[in-house]
Amino acid sequence: MPEFIREGSVAIQPVMASRIPTEFIDELLARTDIVEIIGSRITLKKGGQNYTALCPFHQEKTASFSVSQDKQFYYCFGCQATGSALKFIMEHDHLDFIPAVEMLAAKTGMQIPREEDPQYDEKRRKQKSLYEILEKSNQFYKRQLRHHEDKDRAVNYLKNRGISGPVARDFAIGYAPKGWDNLSRKLAITNADRRLLIDSGMLIEREEENKIYDRFRDRIMFPIRDLRGRVIAFGGRIIDAGQPKYLNSPETRVFHKGRELYGLYEARRATQKLTRILVTEGYMDVVMLAQHGISFAVATLGTATSSEHIGLIFRLVPDVIFCFDGDEAGRNAAWKALNEALPLMSDGRSAKFLFLPDGEDPDSLVRKEGQQGFMARFAECQHLPEFFFDALGSEVDLSSLEGKAKLSKLAMPMINRIPEGVLKQLMVNELAALTGLETDRLLRAATQDESRSGTTSRNGRRNRSPQPRQHAQLSIEELAMALLFRQPELVDQLADAEYAPLDDLKDKDSQLLKEMIRLIRANIGMTPQKLLNYFNNNTDYERLRRLSRLEHLLPADQLISEYQGAIRKLSERSKEQSYQSLREKIKEKPLSELSEEDKQAIRLMVHSRRQESSE
Ligand SMILES: [Zn+2]
Repeated sequence: MPEFIREGSVAIQPVMASRIPTEFIDELLARTDIVEIIGSRITLKKGGQNYTALCPFHQEKTASFSVSQDKQFYYCFGCQATGSALKFIMEHDHLDFIPAVEMLAAKTGMQIPREEDPQYDEKRRKQKSLYEILEKSNQFYKRQLRHHEDKDRAVNYLKNRGISGPVARDFAIGYAPKGWDNLSRKLAITNADRRLLIDSGMLIEREEENKIYDRFRDRIMFPIRDLRGRVIAFGGRIIDAGQPKYLNSPETRVFHKGRELYGLYEARRATQKLTRILVTEGYMDVVMLAQHGISFAVATLGTATSSEHIGLIFRLVPDVIFCFDGDEAGRNAAWKALNEALPLMSDGRSAKFLFLPDGEDPDSLVRKEGQQGFMARFAECQHLPEFFFDALGSEVDLSSLEGKAKLSKLAMPMINRIPEGVLKQLMVNELAALTGLETDRLLRAATQDESRSGTTSRNGRRNRSPQPRQHAQLSIEELAMALLFRQPELVDQLADAEYAPLDDLKDKDSQLLKEMIRLIRANIGMTPQKLLNYFNNNTDYERLRRLSRLEHLLPADQLISEYQGAIRKLSERSKEQSYQSLREKIKEKPLSELSEEDKQAIRLMVHSRRQESSE
């Protein structure tokens, strides 16, 4: 694979009077999914790790355009077009830099700050001041936790909960003392400060009485930080009895609840390479889990899990675990999260649901069970399809025909929201098994339903009936070839000696496989598309093309072992064939009449078989 070299956002930015800050472009790209952007403009197909398509930038008949979700980049093997989501929009929609940024920003709901433009400058200055005043507030609360005369109330509360000093420090936990004006006395020095504290949600203004007072009083303070670690809001937990138990900052110019996840910044900082994220409901859950060594938890901030939350998570990690109460409210919330997740479930991503025992939350449970006990519960997670069919199945009577029909009516429109790929196919198959209907009938019925009601897909085109994938049995040779099409570098996973026995295999498919191996070894940087092109004039081209498009149900980490297994099986077959043919020869002739070559072959054969049986 060619190196996807990430072009700096600055390099493609033309010089102009009002410059969009580089940090903003980075953040914008972090909140954008290139697969979503490109997939809404051209038809993408999942092939291996990446997505492929006919290149929109040059004329071609076979797909050489590839999109990497991991790297958030596209690349064309034909015309070498390459870039980020932003670059794609510019090239594809023929937009200049600024309008392209604006389009992405509008999609993510972000405000574009600009430098050196008086109007934008003013906004940005305000925003910057908001961050500053929030950071000052954070420092103030942290100081109170150490020095305020009532600090023991807060310190004891944290101690009783089992929160250690280092964890309190990692999460920058603070204390808002009792009283109405602790923060305002300290920070609202000028009118401008006062205004900022009100705008940032730290102070509440009663205009009719011309009064201001601290929003957070007698609470443990949890600063909410954005991905870059800036404080954007606070959550406050009451220390004794009182209402509300949890209080959040209101929405402000820098804080949008539906978009932020508490603990995401801390989780990224705690772990070198995050691979999964656990979504909980409260900040105490996140802090408590971190206290017990589970530092990949985040919390929604008093809102339902949104598609923006899930999108943000999937851009960072491939696995998400939603943690909910096992009661009805919890299952309803989980169902909502599932609904938001469906359109984002491209291949390679997984969503699981963890339902906790009644009356427990992650906070209480991890204190009871510790890290080991809590992590053991991950094994009981329901995978998305499981939860999906469980929930829908409980609404219908599957023993009746009517119930089965109802299930397919309920399920298919939802399944159709999943991007084309393995998960979708698995779910259609499962639905087919549950209802006794054939998969293509389900898909056809769903398409007919759609065209009757006149619905169209998101990009305005009518959904074509997806081709039901053929899962015909593959021969070992075909499996090996399909794997090489998916990842040509697999060739290097075996030594020459292990390929040697293949020399004796003379059937057509073995020849094709051997030719493929030879081509990959002879051409550094071989790509699946180039590999297929070599067979352009081969009579088996169509079959090879199908093999190259096969979606494997194998996760990426099993490709190597699958490939090695296939080649070794072929080697064994080859050795067995040679052995059998030798035996035929020996049967008919006395040893003295055998050629020297045959004798040598027998010696080798006996030797190697003896070795194998002693292993
Ligand atoms: Zn191209």
